[in-house]
Amino acid sequence: MEYSLIADAYEKIEATTKRLEMTDHLVRLLKETPKDVIDKVVYLTQGKLYPDFIGIEIGIAEKLAIRAVARATGHSEKEIEEDIRETGDLGETAQKFLRKKTQVSFFSKPLTVERVYETLDKMARSTGAGSMDLKINFLAGLLSDASPKEAKYVVRTVTGSLRLGIADMTVLDALAIAFGGGKETREYLERSYNISSDLGRVAKTVAEEGIESIKEFEVSLGEPIRPMLAERLGSPTEILEKLGGKCTAEYKYDGERIQAHKKEDQIILFSRRLEDITDQYPDGSELTRKHVKAKEAIIEAECVAVDPDTGEMKPFQELMHRRRKYGVKKAMEEYPVSLFMFDALYVDGKDLTLEPYPVRRQHLEKIIEQTDHVKVSEHIITDDPEELEKFFEKAVENGCEGLVCKSVNGDSVYQAGARGWLWIKYKRDYKSEMTDTVDLVVVGAFHGRGKRAGTYGALLLAAYDPDEDVFKTVTKCGTGFTDEDLKKLPKMMEKYRIPHRHPRVISTIEADVWFEPTVVIEAMGAEITLSPIHACAMDVIRKDSGLAIRFPRFTGNYRLDKSAEDATTVQEVVEMYRGQLKKVAG
Ligand code: AMP
Repeated sequence: MEYSLIADAYEKIEATTKRLEMTDHLVRLLKETPKDVIDKVVYLTQGKLYPDFIGIEIGIAEKLAIRAVARATGHSEKEIEEDIRETGDLGETAQKFLRKKTQVSFFSKPLTVERVYETLDKMARSTGAGSMDLKINFLAGLLSDASPKEAKYVVRTVTGSLRLGIADMTVLDALAIAFGGGKETREYLERSYNISSDLGRVAKTVAEEGIESIKEFEVSLGEPIRPMLAERLGSPTEILEKLGGKCTAEYKYDGERIQAHKKEDQIILFSRRLEDITDQYPDGSELTRKHVKAKEAIIEAECVAVDPDTGEMKPFQELMHRRRKYGVKKAMEEYPVSLFMFDALYVDGKDLTLEPYPVRRQHLEKIIEQTDHVKVSEHIITDDPEELEKFFEKAVENGCEGLVCKSVNGDSVYQAGARGWLWIKYKRDYKSEMTDTVDLVVVGAFHGRGKRAGTYGALLLAAYDPDEDVFKTVTKCGTGFTDEDLKKLPKMMEKYRIPHRHPRVISTIEADVWFEPTVVIEAMGAEITLSPIHACAMDVIRKDSGLAIRFPRFTGNYRLDKSAEDATTVQEVVEMYRGQLKKVAG
Protein backbone atom coordinates (compact mmCIF):
# COMPACT_ATOMS: atom_id res chain seq x y z
CA MET A 1 0.00 0.00 0.00
CA GLU A 2 1.35 3.39 -0.92
CA TYR A 3 1.94 5.75 1.95
CA SER A 4 0.61 8.60 -0.19
CA LEU A 5 -2.92 7.24 0.37
CA ILE A 6 -2.44 7.77 4.09
CA ALA A 7 -0.89 11.18 3.63
CA ASP A 8 -3.79 12.31 1.44
CA ALA A 9 -6.33 11.09 3.98
CA TYR A 10 -4.48 12.84 6.81
CA GLU A 11 -4.54 16.06 4.85
CA LYS A 12 -8.30 15.87 4.43
CA ILE A 13 -8.90 14.87 8.01
CA GLU A 14 -6.78 17.75 9.18
CA ALA A 15 -8.81 20.17 7.10
CA THR A 16 -12.10 19.37 8.83
CA THR A 17 -13.36 20.00 12.31
CA LYS A 18 -16.53 17.98 11.85
CA ARG A 19 -16.51 14.53 13.32
CA LEU A 20 -18.82 13.11 10.65
CA GLU A 21 -16.58 14.30 7.84
CA MET A 22 -13.58 13.00 9.68
CA THR A 23 -15.26 9.61 9.94
CA ASP A 24 -16.06 9.66 6.20
CA HIS A 25 -12.44 10.27 5.28
CA LEU A 26 -11.40 7.50 7.61
CA VAL A 27 -13.96 5.12 6.13
CA ARG A 28 -12.58 5.81 2.66
CA LEU A 29 -9.03 5.22 3.81
CA LEU A 30 -9.93 1.97 5.56
CA LYS A 31 -11.75 0.70 2.48
CA GLU A 32 -8.72 1.44 0.30
CA THR A 33 -6.44 -0.36 2.70
CA PRO A 34 -5.45 -3.97 1.93
CA LYS A 35 -6.78 -6.11 4.76
CA ASP A 36 -3.45 -7.48 5.82
CA VAL A 37 -2.10 -4.04 6.76
CA ILE A 38 -5.27 -2.55 8.16
CA ASP A 39 -4.10 -2.98 11.76
CA LYS A 40 -0.94 -1.03 10.99
CA VAL A 41 -2.90 1.74 9.27
CA VAL A 42 -5.19 2.01 12.29
CA TYR A 43 -2.25 2.30 14.69
CA LEU A 44 -0.57 4.87 12.46
CA THR A 45 -3.65 7.10 12.26
CA GLN A 46 -3.42 7.39 16.02
CA GLY A 47 0.28 8.13 15.93
CA LYS A 48 1.13 4.66 17.26
CA LEU A 49 2.75 1.43 16.16
CA TYR A 50 1.07 -0.90 18.65
CA PRO A 51 -1.77 -0.83 21.14
CA ASP A 52 -0.77 1.12 24.23
CA PHE A 53 -0.33 -1.90 26.48
CA ILE A 54 2.64 -3.12 24.43
CA GLY A 55 4.60 -0.12 25.64
CA ILE A 56 6.59 0.50 22.44
CA GLU A 57 6.40 4.15 21.56
CA ILE A 58 7.50 5.98 18.45
CA GLY A 59 8.75 9.31 19.73
CA ILE A 60 12.17 10.70 18.93
CA ALA A 61 13.44 14.06 20.11
CA GLU A 62 12.85 16.95 17.74
CA LYS A 63 16.58 17.64 17.70
CA LEU A 64 17.29 14.26 16.18
CA ALA A 65 14.49 14.67 13.67
CA ILE A 66 15.98 18.02 12.62
CA ARG A 67 19.27 16.29 11.91
CA ALA A 68 17.51 13.70 9.77
CA VAL A 69 15.64 16.37 7.83
CA ALA A 70 18.93 18.22 7.29
CA ARG A 71 20.55 15.08 5.99
CA ALA A 72 17.68 14.21 3.67
CA THR A 73 17.28 17.69 2.20
CA GLY A 74 20.91 18.79 2.06
CA HIS A 75 20.26 21.87 4.20
CA SER A 76 22.01 22.82 7.41
CA GLU A 77 20.42 22.18 10.81
CA LYS A 78 20.63 25.91 11.44
CA GLU A 79 18.55 26.73 8.36
CA ILE A 80 15.96 24.23 9.44
CA GLU A 81 15.82 25.55 12.98
CA GLU A 82 15.34 29.08 11.68
CA ASP A 83 12.49 27.97 9.47
CA ILE A 84 10.79 26.20 12.38
CA ARG A 85 10.67 29.54 14.12
CA GLU A 86 8.46 30.69 11.25
CA THR A 87 6.31 27.63 10.71
CA GLY A 88 6.20 26.46 14.31
CA ASP A 89 6.22 22.88 13.06
CA LEU A 90 9.06 20.68 11.88
CA GLY A 91 6.62 18.73 9.67
CA GLU A 92 5.72 21.88 7.77
CA THR A 93 9.39 22.83 7.47
CA ALA A 94 10.32 19.37 6.21
CA GLN A 95 7.63 19.64 3.54
CA LYS A 96 8.90 23.03 2.48
CA PHE A 97 12.54 21.99 2.26
CA LEU A 98 11.73 18.83 0.37
CA ARG A 99 9.86 20.89 -2.20
CA LYS A 100 12.98 22.96 -2.65
CA LYS A 101 15.12 19.91 -3.16
CA THR A 102 16.56 20.35 -6.61
CA GLN A 103 18.09 17.00 -7.13
CA VAL A 104 15.27 14.57 -7.62
CA SER A 105 16.32 10.97 -7.52
CA PHE A 106 14.46 9.31 -10.34
CA PHE A 107 15.16 5.86 -9.09
CA SER A 108 13.50 6.24 -5.74
CA LYS A 109 10.59 3.88 -5.21
CA PRO A 110 7.32 5.21 -3.90
CA LEU A 111 7.09 4.98 -0.15
CA THR A 112 4.91 2.11 1.05
CA VAL A 113 3.00 1.86 4.32
CA GLU A 114 4.85 -1.36 5.05
CA ARG A 115 8.22 0.31 4.68
CA VAL A 116 7.25 3.33 6.78
CA TYR A 117 5.86 1.09 9.50
CA GLU A 118 8.85 -1.22 9.57
CA THR A 119 11.30 1.64 9.66
CA LEU A 120 9.46 3.40 12.47
CA ASP A 121 9.34 0.10 14.32
CA LYS A 122 13.09 -0.36 13.99
CA MET A 123 13.59 3.19 15.22
CA ALA A 124 11.38 2.61 18.22
CA ARG A 125 13.20 -0.58 19.12
CA SER A 126 16.75 0.66 18.79
CA THR A 127 18.18 1.55 22.16
CA GLY A 128 21.56 1.94 23.76
CA ALA A 129 24.90 3.15 22.42
CA GLY A 130 24.79 4.26 18.81
CA SER A 131 21.01 4.14 18.65
CA MET A 132 20.74 7.88 18.07
CA ASP A 133 22.74 7.70 14.84
CA LEU A 134 20.82 4.67 13.79
CA LYS A 135 17.51 6.44 14.29
CA ILE A 136 18.66 9.48 12.34
CA ASN A 137 19.80 7.27 9.48
CA PHE A 138 16.54 5.36 9.36
CA LEU A 139 14.51 8.56 9.30
CA ALA A 140 16.74 10.32 6.78
CA GLY A 141 16.38 7.26 4.52
CA LEU A 142 12.60 7.48 4.61
CA LEU A 143 12.55 11.21 4.04
CA SER A 144 14.88 10.93 1.04
CA ASP A 145 12.30 8.81 -0.72
CA ALA A 146 9.26 10.72 0.50
CA SER A 147 7.20 13.30 -1.33
CA PRO A 148 7.03 16.64 0.48
CA LYS A 149 3.57 15.87 1.80
CA GLU A 150 4.56 12.40 2.97
CA ALA A 151 7.62 13.85 4.68
CA LYS A 152 5.42 16.22 6.63
CA TYR A 153 3.38 13.38 8.11
CA VAL A 154 6.28 11.03 8.67
CA VAL A 155 8.07 13.76 10.62
CA ARG A 156 4.97 14.54 12.65
CA THR A 157 4.46 10.87 13.39
CA VAL A 158 7.97 10.29 14.70
CA THR A 159 8.01 13.45 16.81
CA GLY A 160 4.66 12.58 18.35
CA SER A 161 2.89 15.62 16.91
CA LEU A 162 0.50 14.04 14.42
CA ARG A 163 -2.52 15.06 16.45
CA LEU A 164 -5.24 14.34 13.93
CA GLY A 165 -7.70 13.99 16.76
CA ILE A 166 -8.94 10.58 15.69
CA ALA A 167 -10.39 9.16 18.88
CA ASP A 168 -10.93 5.45 19.51
CA MET A 169 -14.67 5.93 19.07
CA THR A 170 -14.19 7.56 15.66
CA VAL A 171 -12.18 4.56 14.50
CA LEU A 172 -14.90 2.23 15.78
CA ASP A 173 -17.55 4.24 13.93
CA ALA A 174 -15.51 4.10 10.77
CA LEU A 175 -14.98 0.34 11.09
CA ALA A 176 -18.71 -0.21 11.63
CA ILE A 177 -19.52 1.72 8.46
CA ALA A 178 -16.71 0.30 6.35
CA PHE A 179 -16.98 -3.39 7.30
CA GLY A 180 -19.77 -3.94 9.81
CA GLY A 181 -22.67 -3.08 7.54
CA GLY A 182 -23.54 0.21 9.24
CA LYS A 183 -23.11 2.35 12.28
CA GLU A 184 -25.54 0.28 14.31
CA THR A 185 -22.97 -2.51 14.49
CA ARG A 186 -20.65 -0.31 16.45
CA GLU A 187 -21.69 -1.79 19.80
CA TYR A 188 -20.17 -5.13 18.84
CA LEU A 189 -16.98 -3.50 17.71
CA GLU A 190 -16.90 -1.46 20.86
CA ARG A 191 -17.21 -4.52 23.02
CA SER A 192 -14.43 -6.30 21.18
CA TYR A 193 -12.25 -3.25 21.70
CA ASN A 194 -13.16 -3.10 25.38
CA ILE A 195 -12.10 -6.67 25.96
CA SER A 196 -8.89 -6.50 23.91
CA SER A 197 -7.74 -2.86 24.16
CA ASP A 198 -6.41 -3.41 20.66
CA LEU A 199 -8.04 -1.39 17.86
CA GLY A 200 -5.68 -2.91 15.30
CA ARG A 201 -6.77 -6.45 16.07
CA VAL A 202 -10.43 -5.40 16.04
CA ALA A 203 -9.95 -3.73 12.65
CA LYS A 204 -8.22 -6.74 11.17
CA THR A 205 -10.83 -9.16 12.48
CA VAL A 206 -13.79 -7.22 11.11
CA ALA A 207 -12.06 -6.50 7.78
CA GLU A 208 -10.94 -10.08 7.21
CA GLU A 209 -13.68 -12.10 8.86
CA GLY A 210 -16.69 -9.81 9.04
CA ILE A 211 -19.00 -8.65 11.80
CA GLU A 212 -20.11 -12.17 12.79
CA SER A 213 -16.61 -12.88 13.90
CA ILE A 214 -16.62 -9.70 15.95
CA LYS A 215 -19.78 -10.82 17.69
CA GLU A 216 -17.92 -13.92 18.81
CA PHE A 217 -14.79 -12.05 19.77
CA GLU A 218 -13.37 -13.28 23.06
CA VAL A 219 -10.87 -12.10 25.60
CA SER A 220 -7.33 -13.16 25.01
CA LEU A 221 -4.52 -13.73 27.50
CA GLY A 222 -1.97 -10.96 27.33
CA GLU A 223 -4.44 -8.36 26.13
CA PRO A 224 -5.77 -6.24 28.98
CA ILE A 225 -9.53 -5.94 29.35
CA ARG A 226 -10.56 -2.32 29.83
CA PRO A 227 -11.69 -2.02 33.44
CA MET A 228 -15.27 -1.90 34.59
CA LEU A 229 -15.87 1.15 36.78
CA ALA A 230 -18.29 1.97 39.54
CA GLU A 231 -20.89 4.68 39.98
CA ARG A 232 -21.39 6.24 43.38
CA LEU A 233 -24.32 6.74 45.74
CA GLY A 234 -24.57 8.23 49.20
CA SER A 235 -26.66 5.78 51.21
CA PRO A 236 -27.31 2.06 51.63
CA THR A 237 -31.01 2.53 50.89
CA GLU A 238 -30.36 4.23 47.55
CA ILE A 239 -27.78 1.61 46.67
CA LEU A 240 -30.09 -1.33 47.40
CA GLU A 241 -32.90 0.30 45.49
CA LYS A 242 -30.71 0.84 42.44
CA LEU A 243 -29.45 -2.75 42.54
CA GLY A 244 -32.90 -4.25 42.67
CA GLY A 245 -33.21 -4.73 46.43
CA LYS A 246 -30.27 -7.02 46.94
CA CYS A 247 -26.57 -6.93 46.31
CA THR A 248 -23.23 -8.30 47.21
CA ALA A 249 -21.22 -5.74 49.14
CA GLU A 250 -17.46 -6.01 49.16
CA TYR A 251 -14.70 -4.24 50.99
CA LYS A 252 -13.29 -1.44 48.86
CA TYR A 253 -9.58 -1.92 49.42
CA ASP A 254 -7.43 1.15 49.17
CA GLY A 255 -4.64 0.13 46.85
CA GLU A 256 -3.79 -0.20 43.20
CA ARG A 257 -6.05 -2.07 40.85
CA ILE A 258 -4.35 -4.89 39.06
CA GLN A 259 -5.46 -7.14 36.25
CA ALA A 260 -3.38 -10.29 36.40
CA HIS A 261 -2.98 -12.52 33.35
CA LYS A 262 -1.68 -15.98 34.10
CA LYS A 263 -0.57 -18.48 31.51
CA GLU A 264 1.03 -21.41 33.29
CA ASP A 265 3.98 -19.78 35.09
CA GLN A 266 3.95 -16.65 33.04
CA ILE A 267 2.36 -13.62 34.72
CA ILE A 268 1.58 -10.17 33.39
CA LEU A 269 0.13 -7.49 35.64
CA PHE A 270 -1.69 -4.58 34.06
CA SER A 271 -2.54 -1.34 35.80
CA ARG A 272 -5.92 0.32 35.67
CA ARG A 273 -4.56 2.38 32.77
CA LEU A 274 -3.52 -0.83 31.03
CA GLU A 275 0.20 -0.37 31.43
CA ASP A 276 2.30 -3.44 32.03
CA ILE A 277 3.41 -3.05 35.65
CA THR A 278 4.69 -6.58 36.20
CA ASP A 279 8.16 -5.31 37.09
CA GLN A 280 6.83 -3.07 39.82
CA TYR A 281 5.28 -5.95 41.75
CA PRO A 282 7.57 -8.97 41.77
CA ASP A 283 5.84 -10.08 44.96
CA GLY A 284 2.39 -9.59 43.41
CA SER A 285 3.44 -11.71 40.42
CA GLU A 286 4.76 -14.45 42.67
CA LEU A 287 1.55 -14.53 44.70
CA THR A 288 -0.48 -14.85 41.51
CA ARG A 289 1.76 -17.60 40.17
CA LYS A 290 1.50 -19.61 43.35
CA HIS A 291 -2.03 -19.11 44.53
CA VAL A 292 -4.15 -18.84 41.41
CA LYS A 293 -4.94 -22.49 40.85
CA ALA A 294 -5.78 -22.39 37.18
CA LYS A 295 -3.56 -22.98 34.19
CA GLU A 296 -4.84 -19.85 32.55
CA ALA A 297 -6.69 -17.00 34.15
CA ILE A 298 -7.44 -13.31 34.03
CA ILE A 299 -8.37 -11.98 37.41
CA GLU A 300 -8.74 -8.59 38.98
CA ALA A 301 -7.41 -7.66 42.36
CA GLU A 302 -6.61 -4.72 44.53
CA CYS A 303 -2.96 -4.69 45.50
CA VAL A 304 -2.48 -3.31 48.98
CA ALA A 305 0.62 -2.58 51.04
CA VAL A 306 0.61 -4.39 54.34
CA ASP A 307 2.76 -3.87 57.38
CA PRO A 308 4.50 -7.23 57.75
CA ASP A 309 4.80 -6.91 61.53
CA THR A 310 1.24 -6.06 62.38
CA GLY A 311 -0.66 -7.29 59.35
CA GLU A 312 -2.32 -3.87 59.05
CA MET A 313 -3.20 -2.43 55.68
CA LYS A 314 -1.37 0.77 54.87
CA PRO A 315 -2.88 3.71 53.07
CA PHE A 316 -1.82 3.53 49.46
CA GLN A 317 0.17 6.77 49.47
CA GLU A 318 2.60 5.16 51.84
CA LEU A 319 3.52 2.48 49.34
CA MET A 320 3.91 5.04 46.55
CA HIS A 321 6.01 7.21 48.76
CA ARG A 322 8.25 4.37 49.83
CA ARG A 323 8.64 3.09 46.33
CA ARG A 324 9.83 6.43 45.10
CA LYS A 325 12.24 6.69 47.95
CA TYR A 326 13.85 3.29 48.06
CA GLY A 327 13.05 1.47 44.87
CA VAL A 328 11.10 -1.71 44.37
CA LYS A 329 13.30 -4.17 46.21
CA LYS A 330 13.47 -2.24 49.44
CA ALA A 331 9.76 -1.40 49.33
CA MET A 332 8.98 -5.08 48.90
CA GLU A 333 10.76 -5.85 52.13
CA GLU A 334 9.31 -2.98 54.08
CA TYR A 335 5.80 -3.23 52.76
CA PRO A 336 5.09 -6.43 50.89
CA VAL A 337 1.78 -6.41 49.10
CA SER A 338 -1.33 -8.44 49.61
CA LEU A 339 -3.75 -9.20 46.81
CA PHE A 340 -7.48 -8.94 47.37
CA MET A 341 -9.07 -10.69 44.40
CA PHE A 342 -12.45 -9.41 43.31
CA ASP A 343 -13.24 -10.72 39.82
CA ALA A 344 -12.49 -13.55 37.42
CA LEU A 345 -12.80 -12.65 33.74
CA TYR A 346 -11.32 -15.71 32.14
CA VAL A 347 -10.49 -19.15 33.46
CA ASP A 348 -8.96 -22.06 31.54
CA GLY A 349 -10.28 -21.27 28.12
CA LYS A 350 -13.59 -19.81 29.23
CA ASP A 351 -14.41 -16.15 28.70
CA LEU A 352 -16.47 -15.15 31.75
CA THR A 353 -17.07 -11.50 30.91
CA LEU A 354 -20.68 -12.11 29.88
CA GLU A 355 -21.49 -14.28 32.88
CA PRO A 356 -23.40 -12.72 35.79
CA TYR A 357 -21.28 -11.65 38.74
CA PRO A 358 -22.24 -14.50 41.12
CA VAL A 359 -21.00 -16.99 38.54
CA ARG A 360 -17.71 -15.11 38.11
CA ARG A 361 -17.28 -14.93 41.86
CA GLN A 362 -17.85 -18.66 42.13
CA HIS A 363 -15.09 -19.28 39.61
CA LEU A 364 -12.87 -16.87 41.51
CA GLU A 365 -13.40 -18.59 44.84
CA LYS A 366 -12.69 -21.92 43.23
CA ILE A 367 -9.32 -21.00 41.79
CA ILE A 368 -7.89 -18.82 44.55
CA GLU A 369 -5.94 -20.52 47.26
CA GLN A 370 -6.26 -18.07 50.13
CA THR A 371 -3.24 -17.30 52.29
CA ASP A 372 -2.11 -14.43 54.51
CA HIS A 373 -1.31 -12.40 51.43
CA VAL A 374 -3.91 -13.60 48.98
CA LYS A 375 -7.57 -13.21 49.75
CA VAL A 376 -10.84 -13.13 47.92
CA SER A 377 -12.47 -9.80 48.75
CA GLU A 378 -14.43 -9.78 52.00
CA HIS A 379 -18.15 -9.71 51.19
CA ILE A 380 -21.71 -10.16 52.34
CA ILE A 381 -24.88 -10.63 50.35
CA THR A 382 -27.65 -8.52 51.78
CA ASP A 383 -30.98 -6.81 51.22
CA ASP A 384 -30.86 -4.88 54.49
CA PRO A 385 -29.66 -1.26 54.54
CA GLU A 386 -28.69 -1.50 58.19
CA GLU A 387 -26.58 -4.54 57.62
CA LEU A 388 -24.95 -2.77 54.70
CA GLU A 389 -24.14 0.24 56.87
CA LYS A 390 -22.61 -1.97 59.55
CA PHE A 391 -20.53 -3.81 57.02
CA PHE A 392 -19.38 -0.46 55.65
CA GLU A 393 -18.20 0.64 59.07
CA LYS A 394 -16.40 -2.62 59.54
CA ALA A 395 -14.66 -2.11 56.19
CA VAL A 396 -13.51 1.35 57.20
CA GLU A 397 -12.38 0.09 60.55
CA ASN A 398 -10.24 -2.48 58.79
CA GLY A 399 -8.41 0.10 56.73
CA CYS A 400 -10.65 0.09 53.65
CA GLU A 401 -12.12 3.05 51.83
CA GLY A 402 -15.68 1.76 52.05
CA LEU A 403 -17.64 -0.71 49.96
CA VAL A 404 -18.24 -1.62 46.36
CA CYS A 405 -21.80 -2.92 46.06
CA LYS A 406 -22.39 -5.14 43.08
CA SER A 407 -25.47 -6.34 41.26
CA VAL A 408 -26.22 -10.06 41.57
CA ASN A 409 -28.91 -10.06 38.90
CA GLY A 410 -28.88 -12.19 35.78
CA ASP A 411 -27.62 -9.28 33.69
CA SER A 412 -24.68 -8.44 35.95
CA VAL A 413 -22.05 -8.94 33.26
CA TYR A 414 -18.58 -7.46 33.36
CA GLN A 415 -19.07 -4.13 31.61
CA ALA A 416 -15.57 -3.70 30.24
CA GLY A 417 -14.52 -0.11 29.74
CA ALA A 418 -17.72 1.34 31.17
CA ARG A 419 -18.81 3.14 34.30
CA GLY A 420 -22.24 1.82 35.08
CA TRP A 421 -24.79 1.09 37.79
CA LEU A 422 -23.96 -2.58 38.19
CA TRP A 423 -21.22 -1.56 40.60
CA ILE A 424 -21.86 1.21 43.09
CA LYS A 425 -19.27 2.50 45.49
CA TYR A 426 -20.07 3.70 48.95
CA LYS A 427 -17.34 5.77 50.54
CA ARG A 428 -17.17 8.09 53.47
CA ASP A 429 -17.59 11.58 52.14
CA TYR A 430 -16.21 13.10 55.27
CA LYS A 431 -12.53 12.72 55.64
CA SER A 432 -10.11 15.11 57.19
CA GLU A 433 -6.86 15.26 58.96
CA MET A 434 -6.72 14.82 62.68
CA THR A 435 -4.75 17.79 63.84
CA ASP A 436 -4.28 17.07 67.56
CA THR A 437 -2.41 14.29 69.21
CA VAL A 438 -4.19 12.12 71.76
CA ASP A 439 -2.90 10.51 74.94
CA LEU A 440 -4.14 6.96 75.18
CA VAL A 441 -3.90 4.19 77.71
CA VAL A 442 -2.17 0.93 76.82
CA VAL A 443 -4.68 -1.77 77.75
CA GLY A 444 -3.51 -4.70 75.66
CA ALA A 445 -1.06 -5.89 73.03
CA PHE A 446 -0.77 -8.22 70.06
CA HIS A 447 2.19 -10.47 69.40
CA GLY A 448 4.44 -9.36 66.57
CA ARG A 449 5.31 -11.40 63.52
CA GLY A 450 8.31 -11.29 61.18
CA LYS A 451 10.82 -8.70 62.28
CA ARG A 452 8.73 -8.11 65.39
CA ALA A 453 8.62 -11.71 66.57
CA GLY A 454 9.30 -11.76 70.31
CA THR A 455 7.95 -8.27 70.85
CA TYR A 456 4.64 -6.56 70.20
CA GLY A 457 3.19 -6.03 66.77
CA ALA A 458 0.64 -3.51 67.99
CA LEU A 459 -0.79 -2.05 71.16
CA LEU A 460 -4.47 -1.83 71.99
CA LEU A 461 -5.18 1.71 73.15
CA ALA A 462 -8.10 3.19 75.04
CA ALA A 463 -9.61 6.54 75.96
CA TYR A 464 -10.83 7.27 79.47
CA ASP A 465 -14.52 7.50 80.28
CA PRO A 466 -14.81 9.53 83.53
CA ASP A 467 -18.57 8.95 83.79
CA GLU A 468 -18.18 5.22 84.12
CA ASP A 469 -14.59 5.35 85.28
CA VAL A 470 -13.54 2.84 82.64
CA PHE A 471 -11.19 2.70 79.64
CA LYS A 472 -12.73 2.14 76.23
CA THR A 473 -10.68 0.95 73.28
CA VAL A 474 -10.33 3.38 70.40
CA THR A 475 -7.52 2.06 68.19
CA LYS A 476 -4.82 -0.52 67.53
CA CYS A 477 -1.46 1.12 67.02
CA GLY A 478 1.54 -0.60 65.42
CA THR A 479 3.29 2.30 63.75
CA GLY A 480 5.85 4.81 64.96
CA PHE A 481 7.84 2.53 67.27
CA THR A 482 11.62 2.49 66.89
CA ASP A 483 13.62 -0.72 67.28
CA GLU A 484 14.60 0.53 70.70
CA ASP A 485 10.96 1.09 71.69
CA LEU A 486 10.15 -2.40 70.58
CA LYS A 487 12.92 -3.91 72.63
CA LYS A 488 11.94 -1.89 75.66
CA LEU A 489 8.17 -2.37 75.53
CA PRO A 490 7.74 -5.98 76.74
CA LYS A 491 10.07 -5.29 79.67
CA MET A 492 8.43 -2.00 80.47
CA MET A 493 4.92 -3.48 80.36
CA GLU A 494 5.76 -6.73 82.14
CA LYS A 495 4.88 -5.43 85.57
CA TYR A 496 1.39 -4.41 84.41
CA ARG A 497 0.67 -7.69 82.65
CA ILE A 498 -2.44 -9.55 83.78
CA PRO A 499 -3.87 -12.86 82.56
CA HIS A 500 -7.19 -11.45 81.35
CA ARG A 501 -8.90 -8.23 80.38
CA HIS A 502 -8.88 -5.74 83.24
CA PRO A 503 -12.39 -5.19 84.63
CA ARG A 504 -12.10 -1.46 83.96
CA VAL A 505 -11.29 -2.02 80.32
CA ILE A 506 -14.17 -2.17 77.83
CA SER A 507 -13.22 -3.99 74.67
CA THR A 508 -14.84 -6.27 72.14
CA ILE A 509 -11.42 -6.98 70.70
CA GLU A 510 -9.51 -9.94 72.12
CA ALA A 511 -5.91 -8.91 72.74
CA ASP A 512 -3.07 -11.46 73.02
CA VAL A 513 -1.80 -9.82 76.18
CA TRP A 514 -3.73 -7.69 78.68
CA PHE A 515 -2.45 -4.92 80.94
CA GLU A 516 -3.58 -3.05 83.94
CA PRO A 517 -4.51 0.37 82.53
CA THR A 518 -1.53 2.44 83.68
CA VAL A 519 0.84 3.47 80.89
CA VAL A 520 -0.14 6.43 78.69
CA ILE A 521 1.41 7.10 75.30
CA GLU A 522 0.94 9.91 72.84
CA ALA A 523 -0.38 9.08 69.37
CA MET A 524 -1.44 10.89 66.25
CA GLY A 525 -4.05 9.53 63.88
CA ALA A 526 -5.11 10.36 60.35
CA GLU A 527 -8.80 10.69 61.13
CA ILE A 528 -11.61 9.56 63.39
CA THR A 529 -14.26 7.29 61.97
CA LEU A 530 -17.34 5.39 63.04
CA SER A 531 -16.52 1.85 64.04
CA PRO A 532 -18.57 -1.13 65.14
CA ILE A 533 -15.52 -2.66 66.78
CA HIS A 534 -14.22 -0.10 69.21
CA ALA A 535 -15.99 0.65 72.47
CA CYS A 536 -15.16 4.35 72.61
CA ALA A 537 -18.40 6.38 72.28
CA MET A 538 -20.45 3.29 71.48
CA ASP A 539 -24.01 4.33 70.56
CA VAL A 540 -23.17 8.01 71.03
CA ILE A 541 -23.09 9.10 67.40
CA ARG A 542 -24.89 6.16 65.93
CA LYS A 543 -26.45 3.00 67.27
CA ASP A 544 -24.06 0.04 67.42
CA SER A 545 -21.15 2.21 66.38
CA GLY A 546 -18.26 3.49 68.36
CA LEU A 547 -15.44 5.77 67.25
CA ALA A 548 -12.00 4.72 66.11
CA ILE A 549 -8.82 6.54 65.32
CA ARG A 550 -7.57 5.50 61.89
CA PHE A 551 -3.90 5.05 61.01
CA PRO A 552 -2.53 5.91 64.43
CA ARG A 553 1.17 6.49 64.90
CA PHE A 554 3.11 6.58 68.18
CA THR A 555 4.78 9.99 68.41
CA GLY A 556 7.65 8.69 70.55
CA ASN A 557 6.31 10.29 73.74
CA TYR A 558 5.64 8.07 76.73
CA ARG A 559 3.44 10.24 78.90
CA LEU A 560 4.98 9.11 82.14
CA ASP A 561 3.74 12.38 83.59
CA LYS A 562 0.15 11.25 83.16
CA SER A 563 -1.87 8.75 85.06
CA ALA A 564 -4.38 6.64 83.14
CA GLU A 565 -7.20 8.88 84.34
CA ASP A 566 -5.45 11.86 82.76
CA ALA A 567 -5.67 10.32 79.30
CA THR A 568 -7.81 11.77 76.50
CA THR A 569 -11.45 11.20 77.36
CA VAL A 570 -14.19 9.61 75.32
CA GLN A 571 -15.97 12.98 75.28
CA GLU A 572 -12.90 14.62 73.78
CA VAL A 573 -12.75 12.01 71.01
CA VAL A 574 -16.44 12.68 70.26
CA GLU A 575 -15.74 16.41 70.04
CA MET A 576 -12.78 15.83 67.78
CA TYR A 577 -14.95 13.68 65.53
CA ARG A 578 -17.67 16.34 65.39
CA GLY A 579 -15.13 19.08 64.80
CA GLN A 580 -13.70 17.10 61.96
CA LEU A 581 -17.14 16.79 60.36
CA LYS A 582 -17.76 20.51 60.71
CA LYS A 583 -14.44 21.27 59.12
CA VAL A 584 -15.33 19.24 56.08
CA ALA A 585 -18.82 20.68 55.87
CA GLY A 586 -17.48 24.23 56.14
P1 AMP B 1 -12.93 4.49 42.36
O1 AMP B 1 -11.48 4.39 41.96
O2 AMP B 1 -13.17 5.34 43.55
O3 AMP B 1 -13.82 4.77 41.19
O4 AMP B 1 -13.37 3.04 42.83
C1 AMP B 1 -13.25 1.90 42.04
C2 AMP B 1 -11.96 1.20 42.38
O5 AMP B 1 -12.05 0.54 43.63
C3 AMP B 1 -11.63 0.09 41.44
O6 AMP B 1 -11.01 0.57 40.27
C4 AMP B 1 -10.70 -0.79 42.25
O7 AMP B 1 -9.36 -0.34 42.07
C5 AMP B 1 -11.07 -0.47 43.69
N1 AMP B 1 -11.59 -1.63 44.44
C6 AMP B 1 -11.21 -1.96 45.68
N2 AMP B 1 -11.86 -3.03 46.13
C7 AMP B 1 -12.71 -3.42 45.15
C8 AMP B 1 -13.67 -4.47 45.03
N3 AMP B 1 -13.92 -5.34 46.01
N4 AMP B 1 -14.36 -4.54 43.86
C9 AMP B 1 -14.15 -3.65 42.85
N5 AMP B 1 -13.25 -2.64 42.92
C10 AMP B 1 -12.54 -2.52 44.06
